[in-house]
Amino acid sequence: MSVNVLFSAHADRWPQYRDLLTSAIITTGVDFNLATDFDPAEVDYVVYAPNSGLRDFAPFARLKAVLSLWAGVESIVGNPTLTVPLARMVDHGLQQGMTEWVTGHVLRHHLGMDRHITGQDGIWRTDVPPLAPSRTVCILGLGELGQAAGKALASLGFNVTGWSRTPKSIPEVTCFDGASGLQTALEGAEILVLLLPDTPATTNILDAKTLAKLPRGAVIINPGRGPLIDDDALLAALGSGHVGHATLDVFRTEPLPPDHPYWSHKRVTVTPHIASETRPETAVLAIAENIRRGEAGEPFLHLVDRTLGY
Ligand code: NDP
Repeated sequence: MSVNVLFSAHADRWPQYRDLLTSAIITTGVDFNLATDFDPAEVDYVVYAPNSGLRDFAPFARLKAVLSLWAGVESIVGNPTLTVPLARMVDHGLQQGMTEWVTGHVLRHHLGMDRHITGQDGIWRTDVPPLAPSRTVCILGLGELGQAAGKALASLGFNVTGWSRTPKSIPEVTCFDGASGLQTALEGAEILVLLLPDTPATTNILDAKTLAKLPRGAVIINPGRGPLIDDDALLAALGSGHVGHATLDVFRTEPLPPDHPYWSHKRVTVTPHIASETRPETAVLAIAENIRRGEAGEPFLHLVDRTLGY
């Protein structure tokens, strides 16, 4: 019997995915139907993005798995109607995009590019930026994206540190874990990159107390999730000069409301959740592989731990 694969994402994604996903699943040898609409009781797999609006999985009686197009699963992981395995997106294109975005914004601050791009004033200043080995970049979250960005920064010569829930050993990255590890990681972080998931344990991980551990003038780069930061505490730290700049891609409310103080703050850079987007060309391979695995009775890749929330 054919398996039915429901594509449930924002309508504008379907034209981008239809042919690519069809081709990718064909290569697995699985007999399938792919559509944006089925009788829920007849769906085997849901390819899912939160912006589809699908919230109630109860009618999906024979569902085998939900395959998320997004790496971040905070909006679905606690859904009580979802009782089947949930896999998140881990994909080369997503890693490449995040690595480029993080590296670009780290280099901007490391080199002090703004001085020349926006501060050109006819004065011949010869301040030379330091070399990367004398700059510590700390990454909170050493998962798929944090490790990829960390390795790229280390290859440029930066002194890279990182922090995760469980202990890690990563070449060229000094790894910390646990509460005392967080303190040490923050104390050295001249540039701090947040690549943690949004879970109950990471909410407001950057608050007044943890921000105070950063060296004065530290730069914060957040492509992780908005709730990782206590916004009032960050604005206070920016106001006092303790934090030198914040480059923020993600926010508690998206789109960021036009009157939010971040938009007009001269030491905040807002980017509209574009750090890294799932790329259909590579993401369809990850989706197809999990459908193949499901049909072959093999374990799914990149399953979300529902108790940890990521
Ligand atoms: P992973 O699950 O691979 O990595 C998460 C990392 O965070 C792991 O190292 C994990 O530790 C660590 N972590 C989780 N909880 C804690 C905790 N309580 N204390 C310390 N460390 C913790 O995720 P990805 O790298 O794939 O993605 C990270 C996040 O990036 C996503 O959840 C999403 O929010 C965001 N994202 C943003 C995008 C954008 O465009 N702005 C695009 C894609 C993703 P451990 O290794 O020990 O498990």
